[in-house]
Amino acid sequence: MRIDPEDVTLCLVDDPAPAGRPAADAPAAWSAPDGARPTAVPIVQTSLFTFPTFAALIEGLAAEHRHTVYSRGQNPTVEVLERKLAALERGEACKCFSSGMAAINAVMTGLLRAGDHVLFVNNTYGPTLELAAHLARFGVEHDVVLDGAPDAVRAALKPNTSLVWLESPGTMLFRVVDVPGIAALTHEHGALVCMDNSWSTPLLQKPLTLGVDIVVHSCTKYLAGHSDLVAGAVISTAARMEDLFYRSFLLNGGVLAPFDAWLLLRGMRTLPARLRQHETDALTVARFLDGHPAVRRVHHPALAGALPGGLRGTSGLFSFELAAGDFESVRRVLDALDHIHLGVSWGGVESLAISPARPGNETELDGKGIPRGLIRLSVGLEGADVLIADLDAALATVR
Ligand SMILES: *Cc1c(COP(=O)(O)O)cnc(C)c1O
Repeated sequence: MRIDPEDVTLCLVDDPAPAGRPAADAPAAWSAPDGARPTAVPIVQTSLFTFPTFAALIEGLAAEHRHTVYSRGQNPTVEVLERKLAALERGEACKCFSSGMAAINAVMTGLLRAGDHVLFVNNTYGPTLELAAHLARFGVEHDVVLDGAPDAVRAALKPNTSLVWLESPGTMLFRVVDVPGIAALTHEHGALVCMDNSWSTPLLQKPLTLGVDIVVHSCTKYLAGHSDLVAGAVISTAARMEDLFYRSFLLNGGVLAPFDAWLLLRGMRTLPARLRQHETDALTVARFLDGHPAVRRVHHPALAGALPGGLRGTSGLFSFELAAGDFESVRRVLDALDHIHLGVSWGGVESLAISPARPGNETELDGKGIPRGLIRLSVGLEGADVLIADLDAALATVR
């Protein structure tokens, strides 16, 4: 893992004062009369801000993306988080949301109009695709191209494709695709590229530096890191974020609470250290599974060959296929796990397992290109030895 030292600083410092804005744009309440400042960012728990004059209030309302007027727009605690995420992604501006789905919804409803076509490349997070299907009633169509090869993507573009949606590594199978290549051909076509970068976090991949136009995150996962909040973020140019602020953030109302922003800021202080450990332990567990007779195949980007240049390391989420692909075997292995818990989501300190298998859904999985007998693991921080012993005992139930 090659984490940029600048990113470690960004995760640790309280507020990366942005270029062009005075460091002292923090509220006066932040420092004591003698100049002493809190080391943790204060939680500005307020719904509204009052102004000294009516003229000042009018000015604030005229540019709510730059002024704290109402916490459905800007809030100082949330803004610190947004400055950090923008800086980490090397983007100009960020907006945080009450969930990853609220962020994804804001991008789609903010950018798309009736008659547009969206192309999803690689395996995509399920609810993102469900949202796209829902948008059909507003005249937005979509297609999925699981093969991320640039030629396959080019062939799937339609004259009305205005957005290409990418995940790399992709959901469930963690396949990487040629991000710069896809971004270039999408731009030739006159469309925008949005990438869901939740798996990598900005520390392992910076899509905006690879040609991507918009980055979304589920901050619920590694960024928060402790399974105690739900949050999302969008990062892009200042102009595009200003447009999204008025078009879909302020109106959709999926606002992140100041306390949750504060928890996220706290979680991010240990993000570099957590990611290093997640990578090491997940690789150790993946290599153990790779040689196991009850396992057909392990889907981990670092076992699939050299990582693409833009990926600085791997996180702790990967999957494996049981040699026995039936539901009953999946159920037996999952139920035999002890230290690894069963649950949705990922990216916390506790290890989690889940499977897309359901009784009798084999053909549905085949249709989605998801192998039968697939189990997804989020490797937490318990230590690889504990997890390997747990998996070894559970896999013994299907040998
Ligand atoms: C969880 C997740 C989301 C949705 O985020 P929420 O915070 O749960 O709304 C989006 N994309 C990916 C890849 C995810 O894993």
